[in-house]
Amino acid sequence: MKVLKFGGTSVGSPERMKNLLDIIDASERQVVVLSAVSGTTNSLVEIGQAYLVGDKTKAASLISALKAKYEIFIKDLFAKPEFLEQGKEVIDYHFSLLSSIANDLFTPVEEKIILAQGELLSTTLYHVYLKEIGVPSVLLPALDFMKTDEDNEPVVDYITSHLIPLLEKSPDNNLFITQGYICRNAFGEIDNLRRGGSDYTASLIGAGIRSEEVQIWTDIDGMHNNDPRIVQGTKPIAQLSFDEAAELAYFGAKILHPQSVFPAQKYKIPVRLLNTMDPQAKGTLITNDSEKNQIKSIAAKDGITAVKINSSRMLLAYGFLRRVFEVFERYKTSIDMITTSEVAVSLTIDDTTHLAEILGELKAFGDVEVDADHTIICVVGDFAADKHGFGSRVLEALKHLPLRMISYGGSNHNLSVLVKTEDKVEALRSLHSRLF
Ligand code: ASP
Ligand code: MG
Repeated sequence: MKVLKFGGTSVGSPERMKNLLDIIDASERQVVVLSAVSGTTNSLVEIGQAYLVGDKTKAASLISALKAKYEIFIKDLFAKPEFLEQGKEVIDYHFSLLSSIANDLFTPVEEKIILAQGELLSTTLYHVYLKEIGVPSVLLPALDFMKTDEDNEPVVDYITSHLIPLLEKSPDNNLFITQGYICRNAFGEIDNLRRGGSDYTASLIGAGIRSEEVQIWTDIDGMHNNDPRIVQGTKPIAQLSFDEAAELAYFGAKILHPQSVFPAQKYKIPVRLLNTMDPQAKGTLITNDSEKNQIKSIAAKDGITAVKINSSRMLLAYGFLRRVFEVFERYKTSIDMITTSEVAVSLTIDDTTHLAEILGELKAFGDVEVDADHTIICVVGDFAADKHGFGSRVLEALKHLPLRMISYGGSNHNLSVLVKTEDKVEALRSLHSRLF
């Protein structure tokens, strides 16, 4: 059984939603995961923020603006009055729920209920549409099987034990529609897998039901070998290993939610990235295999802050790095890149929420320098230690730019450098023209 996930733009208009059936083969048994209609989750975030600051008038006007969009949406989606009526009931239900939050105490629980409405709307409307055109389908509530634990980690075994019986209940049905992104947390409350989490849902379902393949349908023809918004002539990568895909997704390739790689990798489920606008294009296939002797792709991650700690106490000392890392751990701040010398260590973070407190504690170890507005450029490929030449090609391509940090050898498939964000475009272009 395959799992197909369609992103926000793939359900972004009534026409797009109708066209999904060009891709979904209704004669095959499969799970279809939908995101919210594009723009909806952003609007829901704004509605939540308005409630959070107590601005109920603003929340009400944001809600009615969003509702108006859906009223137009269903007029084009449905042809028959009785189904248009059903669509209207769906909208009324979800929007009155959004409005009713005004009467509650606003807590993170309410905020997550708000955020869940986008996927609930898109899947229910699509399900009603399938009914109208006479295509049998079952709507599976993700809240009945998608679950996270106390550490907010999804529980694959729970998905298996709750989703398989739901699928078995309808042995003659082919099409199962469900919501991406939303889940229940350890307390049974409505929660989510964080922004962009529908990809993660698809991979988790794929793992949970040991699917033959997970397909992520977006509006680009696979993962490209560089950022197509910045560099001309980028190409889709035909094949990637899970490790390479995870690095690229984490370091900037917007097409895939970084965590979504891991469940598929663990259960060896192939993941295909495909393009709704060009369904025949091959896209990118992600499996356990890595192609030898190749540089695959370049990605960039902005908003990086580098922190350098200079300390004579580091010289010949043990336990120094542990104490430095513990400071970051206390403030739940994750570190991306590290480089060390005998008397100094540099590391990077992307979340500066607790930077002031972190710096305050680090000063006890020595001199601390901070450089904001940096970008990690990550080159992914087969960088096995017994090969030579790739590292020098990367550095050669960047020889005219100041490099703040270089990280190589952490894994066999990544060489990363830290540059000023103002040098990013030049770095990406120069690497592209010299490596590909
Ligand atoms: N609708 C959610 C978001 O916009 C989840 C997703 O689309 O993947 O973040
Ligand atoms: Mg996405």
